Amino acid sequence: MDARCVNCNMRADFDIDKNKVICKKCGLEIEYDDYIEQMKEKAVSLADDFQSNWDKSGF
Ligand SMILES: [Zn+2]
Repeated sequence: MDARCVNCNMRADFDIDKNKVICKKCGLEIEYDDYIEQMKEKAVSLADDFQSNWDKSGF
């Protein structure tokens, strides 16, 4: 199953048997639960970036 690496943003694999997300590009290997947590944090920080860019544009 495909996943997106939280580290390098490349395509990573979700290993259902091990319940782990593994990225062959950067060697990331994390538990799926941790992966979800990191994805959430990433989404939040992206939203923050978006918000501050929005504010700077004076819109
Ligand atoms: Zn990676």
